Amino acid sequence: MVVSDAVTANAHHGLAAHEVVLLLQTDPHRGLTTEVADERLKEFGPNTLPAPRGAGLVRRVLRQFHHPLIYVLLVAGVVTATLSEYVDSVVIFAVVVVNAIVGFVQETKAETALQSLRSMVRTEAKVIRDGRERTIGSDQLVPGDLVLVEAGDKVPADVRLIRESELRVDESALTGESVPVDKTEVVLPEATPVADRCNMAYSGTLVTAGSGAGVVVATGSETEIGEIHRLVGSAEVLATPLTAKLAWFSKILTIGILALAAATFALGLVRRQDAVETFTAAVALAVGAIPEGLPAAVTITLAIGVARMAKRRAVIRRLPAVETLGGTTVICADKTGTLTENQMTVRKVWTPHHAVTATGSGYAPTGALLTGDGQPMSVDADESLRWTLVAGAVCNDAALSPDGQRWQIAGDPTEAAMLVVAAKAGLAIEDLRNDFPRVAAIPFTSERQYMATLHRSERHRDVVLVKGSVERMLELCERQMDADGTLRRVDRAAAVAAADALAAEGLRVLACGVAVPADPSHFTEAQISGSITFTGLQAMLDPPRDAAAPAVAACHSAGISVKMITGDHPGTASAIAESVGVLVPGAPGRRSVMTGAQLAALSADEFPDLVDEASVFARVSPEQKLRPVEALQAKGHVVAMTGDGVNDAPALRQASIGVAMGRGGTEVAKDAADMVLTDDDFATIEAAVEEGRGVFDNLTKFITWTLPTNIGEGLVILAAIAMGAMLPILPTQILWINMTTAVALGLMLAFEPKEAGIMTRPPRDPGQPLLTRALMGRILLVSSLLVAGSWWLFEWELAQGSSLAEARTAALNVFVVVEAFYLFSCRSLTRSAWRIGLFTNRWLVVGVAVQAVAQIAITYLPVMNTIFDTAPLQAEVWLRIFGIAVVVSLVVAAEKWLRARSSMVRRL
Ligand code: ADP
Ligand code: MG
Repeated sequence: MVVSDAVTANAHHGLAAHEVVLLLQTDPHRGLTTEVADERLKEFGPNTLPAPRGAGLVRRVLRQFHHPLIYVLLVAGVVTATLSEYVDSVVIFAVVVVNAIVGFVQETKAETALQSLRSMVRTEAKVIRDGRERTIGSDQLVPGDLVLVEAGDKVPADVRLIRESELRVDESALTGESVPVDKTEVVLPEATPVADRCNMAYSGTLVTAGSGAGVVVATGSETEIGEIHRLVGSAEVLATPLTAKLAWFSKILTIGILALAAATFALGLVRRQDAVETFTAAVALAVGAIPEGLPAAVTITLAIGVARMAKRRAVIRRLPAVETLGGTTVICADKTGTLTENQMTVRKVWTPHHAVTATGSGYAPTGALLTGDGQPMSVDADESLRWTLVAGAVCNDAALSPDGQRWQIAGDPTEAAMLVVAAKAGLAIEDLRNDFPRVAAIPFTSERQYMATLHRSERHRDVVLVKGSVERMLELCERQMDADGTLRRVDRAAAVAAADALAAEGLRVLACGVAVPADPSHFTEAQISGSITFTGLQAMLDPPRDAAAPAVAACHSAGISVKMITGDHPGTASAIAESVGVLVPGAPGRRSVMTGAQLAALSADEFPDLVDEASVFARVSPEQKLRPVEALQAKGHVVAMTGDGVNDAPALRQASIGVAMGRGGTEVAKDAADMVLTDDDFATIEAAVEEGRGVFDNLTKFITWTLPTNIGEGLVILAAIAMGAMLPILPTQILWINMTTAVALGLMLAFEPKEAGIMTRPPRDPGQPLLTRALMGRILLVSSLLVAGSWWLFEWELAQGSSLAEARTAALNVFVVVEAFYLFSCRSLTRSAWRIGLFTNRWLVVGVAVQAVAQIAITYLPVMNTIFDTAPLQAEVWLRIFGIAVVVSLVVAAEKWLRARSSMVRRL
């Protein structure tokens, strides 16, 4: 049987493990060879799901026409055609087409931006090939590959398990069932449904506990999730609470305006006005007042924001986060790796009889151990020192390897540092590991706070090596070792005092110990508790990131509080917190340190206030992270919370913005997060918040800019109808204004750089509406000025004896020129246009130039004159148009100035 038949057979759960191995022509221990894997990769293709095709091209194009306004235009186009107004009819249809093209292009652009994000967070898989374990991109997996999974991983393909240890998998991605299921290696009846196939692990599901190994039986679209994918073909929808609200707003508005337009038409007929003219007026009203460009502009602004964040290494996984980020009021960040470098170097080793210092830097194993008076210290002089270093180096899963001038580590930096210090002391790591072959291990977890390994060797008999947090280790120990190797009762007070002193220097402290197992066949937590001999402490330095302190300061000046959450010792945590400015003794809201134990003891009503006051949470277990998040949210905060482990997932989901670590984080955490930091750096969160504020600003600016045109146009038409006067602008002219200014002028606001001082103002109040009363006021002000200006000039030109076409052309240009001037004002909602500099957004200048050419064309080109019923203007008319624009700008500037002054007065 060839392998491809084995893949499509799809009954691997009904076969024994060795049969599956045989069927897929692989090796249960050595895996595939590289050659075979390469061949199969060619045959089966990469292990990826085909990008969601989304709606088909035709559907997507058609969707652009699915809008009430477009229906109005289409009806208007048909009616004008039947009335033999062919030019108008063609203009209207042209607008419909242009509108569809613009919408289509924007939508496609936004979707591409989102899709490219997906490829930024690459998932990796651990496989055994050629008998060696290695990490490859999960897209490289092929059927027959032997993959390893452990807690925190995402299962990279459909796998028939052949070995497992307490493996539990969250299959909600596949079955919707959120309780993790236990996996065991058994043979199942062939009819077992997917949800009950406990000997299979399916692509896309998340490993929440234990570990396992299995043979890949299906990859890419052949997997179960691929099947679902093919059926649903779900495309990402560009929706956030804000876009939903805006879509709703513009729908209501559209319906309202259509009703108004219909009423106008009816009224005109009742009054026995000319049917064609009233119909035209009703259409003009609908076309002018509906803000058709709004949803598209919002989408494109969000998409640009997402791209800007990605450039700053913050990958948005859920679009609403872009919006929420700008409103963040509290950031709860991990210490290790986020605020610090996660570059551990053991600086000091303490035993009950000696305190030694290690020289050297980084992971290079060059340096020495020195006593207090600078003399070299040998491990032969102190047995407890020797065992402290041995336990640190052997009860250890990390690896160290030279890489040119530098040293590369694999695994946990805390463990790598312990390898380095052992090497500095002259212990050969390879020899140690050969002397103490490992037979069993209790892995480190944040809850357990220690790791223990069982070793069996000819020379040393059985031995247990342990390392972990000081508190936890002292609970497990009854004895300690002296320099000569003799044992005595452990002096807990001395060890705690030493550990506290080291922690106060900002060092991360771990305790080490050894034990001779009473019953090596029962290597369990219960067994080793109380049997361990404490040997000493290792204290390591993890320098704060350079960017951390400035980023924390930036957050503070932006009114965002920063809290550190860590599993580390309170002393270490506060020392680091002080050095980056998270903890400032005496400053309100930043003064106190709380431990997980204290958190657990708090009553529900004192909880929120105390949590609000504290800035460091130490010795916190992942489960405990959830409560502070909830407490802060109950106080009205918008909370961003970082996390990396499996158990962080609930807190990440609960947080307003869950932030996962791209490098150090597990797939489970990334899956639960709204945002992934590709560099794990705290400063990136701050950058994302800054971009988030920028996005929100630009949205508000666009809306503040666009609404006056719509309201102004609507009012002009309404007034004309109510007074039974001639229309100052025609429907086709309104279409011209809306289409050209939205694209050439308004869209450029999406490219507006962030305002200076964006991070020195307080966060937006989460309950605040998009448009404050102040902005509503400004919008109405500009709308009325537009109405007054265009109406006045229209009447004035007529009074001067100009033709109707000339007067309308003048009114049309008032709208466009005022909008162009007002655009510069909308670049800042609070500061005057002059203060930002005219050329800081080059797109804006380009847009204005394009618009100017367009206006010259519609005013002076004979063809355009015929199409749009316009007429060339005299030079002096332009003077009046620009005069109006200048007056409007001055009024808006004065309004801004007054408002800034009164808010300043209020603050005084
Ligand atoms: P954090 O990374 O925020 O310091 P953890 O929950 O990872 O928190 O670690 C908690 C404590 O467990 C640490 O302060 C340290 O004493 C101990 N510890 C950390 N890593 C290991 C490890 N690999 N093996 C044993 N103990 C560890
Ligand atoms: Mg850790």
